[in-house]
Amino acid sequence: MQNTINTLIHLQECDSKIMEIQKEMDQGPVRIEELKRNLARTEDILQEKTADLDTCKKERRQMEQDISDLEAGIEKSNIKLNNIKSNKEYRAILKEIDSLNRQKTVLEDRVLELLEEIEKKEKVLNTTVKQLEKAKTVFEHNRKTILNEIEDLQHKKNDLEKKKAEISRKIEPDLLKRYNTLRKNRGGIAVSAVLNGICKTCNIAIPPQKFNELIKGTDLISCPNCKRILYYTEDTEVKDAT
Ligand SMILES: [Zn+2]
Repeated sequence: MQNTINTLIHLQECDSKIMEIQKEMDQGPVRIEELKRNLARTEDILQEKTADLDTCKKERRQMEQDISDLEAGIEKSNIKLNNIKSNKEYRAILKEIDSLNRQKTVLEDRVLELLEEIEKKEKVLNTTVKQLEKAKTVFEHNRKTILNEIEDLQHKKNDLEKKKAEISRKIEPDLLKRYNTLRKNRGGIAVSAVLNGICKTCNIAIPPQKFNELIKGTDLISCPNCKRILYYTEDTEVKDAT
């Protein structure tokens, strides 16, 4: 009976390791997705900055167009000025030219501001482009690292699966079925240690008679609470099967 119990414990250890590895493997794609989201954020920032710069450039073009429209207006007024007869009309046109010139100055100042802004924004944009390039390289490197890790884990898992198959062959089919059903229904843990009369997995005290049977080791004993297959240990270091 002790042999059977030991085999079950080995199987349990093997299954727990497989489960752990599987969990770790499942984290791989999640981590890659997270990295992708981070990269996408940098891409979004770049897009925003590009759009912002384009808006400034567009405004500048519009201002320049407005300035040349004003210049055309000024030129037209100057031509009119040459063909004026009355003083009153002359003064009105001078006033008009003066107003157009003042509008032109305002626009020219704004263009200068925009040129400065554009220069600043282009610098920031260049930095962001470089940051994105770097982020892409880092992403690719990290992605490959994670994929390599998954591959390593897959190898480890394959080895454990082989070991599991070997161990399983040593177990009676009915008992193996019971073990697997328990594992499935009990969070992956089918075999539990009993330390100081307590099931280590569900923390319930084993009734004295059952405990004595367990120590005798002639039969497989189930935990009255969690139904897991029990084994006796005096090792306080025995790790929780979870
Ligand atoms: Zn229990």
